[in-house]
Amino acid sequence: MSGRRQGYGSRGGLVVPRTLPALSSSCSGSRGVLRSLPFPKMSKSIIDPSRLEKIEFSNDEIARYSRHLIMPEVTLEGQKRLKAASILCIGTGGLGSPIALYLAAAGIGRMGLVDGDVVDFSNLQRQILHGTKDVGRKKLNSARDRIREVNPNVQIDLHDTYFTSANAEELVRDYDIVVDGTDNFPTRYLSNDICVFMKKPNVYGSIFRFEGQCTVFAPHLGGPCYRCMFPEPPPPGMVPSCAEGGVLGVLPGVIGVLQAIEAIKLVVGLGQPLMGRLLHFDALNLKFREFKLRRDPKCPVCGDNPTIKELIDYDQFCGIPQAAAAEAAEAPIPTMNVRELKQKLESGEKFVLLDVREPFEWDICRIDHAKLIPLGQLPSRMSELDSADEIVIHCKSGGRSAKAVRLLQEAGFSKLHNVEGGITAWAEEIDPSVPKY
Ligand SMILES: [Zn+2]
Repeated sequence: MSGRRQGYGSRGGLVVPRTLPALSSSCSGSRGVLRSLPFPKMSKSIIDPSRLEKIEFSNDEIARYSRHLIMPEVTLEGQKRLKAASILCIGTGGLGSPIALYLAAAGIGRMGLVDGDVVDFSNLQRQILHGTKDVGRKKLNSARDRIREVNPNVQIDLHDTYFTSANAEELVRDYDIVVDGTDNFPTRYLSNDICVFMKKPNVYGSIFRFEGQCTVFAPHLGGPCYRCMFPEPPPPGMVPSCAEGGVLGVLPGVIGVLQAIEAIKLVVGLGQPLMGRLLHFDALNLKFREFKLRRDPKCPVCGDNPTIKELIDYDQFCGIPQAAAAEAAEAPIPTMNVRELKQKLESGEKFVLLDVREPFEWDICRIDHAKLIPLGQLPSRMSELDSADEIVIHCKSGGRSAKAVRLLQEAGFSKLHNVEGGITAWAEEIDPSVPKY
């Protein structure tokens, strides 16, 4: 070996492997200079130079953005591009929080926020745009207040609605980039299709439990679109949502920040965009993996002979009403609301209240007199139930208990009721001392 030693050394407080080039001694001063690395190959900014002519900065803004301005890859020119740019953030939840916060801090000139939701306690574990005092407020309002605190120079457009086929074109039209911070299939296909049609880059992110992924869809810049990967959505119910499967609270922080980086790179014209590549992040093993994505010439939206040329009904496409209709076509599931359940409990009537959630959910909260048999164990533990009894079944919000009703119906049980809205509805309407999760 030459004079290079393996091992770790300390430079200016930052511990770095000795074999790595000196990235920086400290970000707080001007000593850290990228001498040993060549400048990254620059891609072209999506912002037309003519839009920079009227962009000016106050002295406060110059100070605010100084750590960008002294980077030779950004400079005043790059910062002007950021100020000239407009970005539509769909959703202000787990992904939308870091996306909006970092884009605002970076000095994006105009940001559109789309969200029709209200802040709930269960959001706070990851949705860092919103605070405890914001529970019950519109997410848009708490997001606006928080972003203004971070950077009052950003113009914020509030779109108090959900992103739908009816409003997508109007919402997307006025922005340079769309960053999709929602995490459901109908919105994902919708934001993909509208961005392909309107030639806007779509920065995609997705999270589930301990894993996430990120890429940039922009067929007009040479990359693939979401439908090149997945022409059709998975069957409804096949892929659980974060509300069903959970998500590590910090995970959307990682993925949302990656999305913000990609948006900023497209605006400033930095490095190589994450186009034609899907970055997968595994938090449990702390591994990043990259997959090549290719544009599919047969893609129904961005292919050579597209078959889809306008927006469709994405709920229907993703099977949401079809699933409901298919279920309704079978024997209807007898239901009971939580007020009826309360009356039944108070009347002293004999019946079995069956909870089909998991034991860890049971530990969080339960309804008195309930019996716990997790849905997965129900087939093997049916003998603990008597088909002569009336059985009222609940879960967290009504989905799993509906499946339990079906299972028991198939096994010959008939005196069954599914509790609409599950223990969540019970907490909301009957007993506020029961925690929601
Ligand atoms: Zn495509």
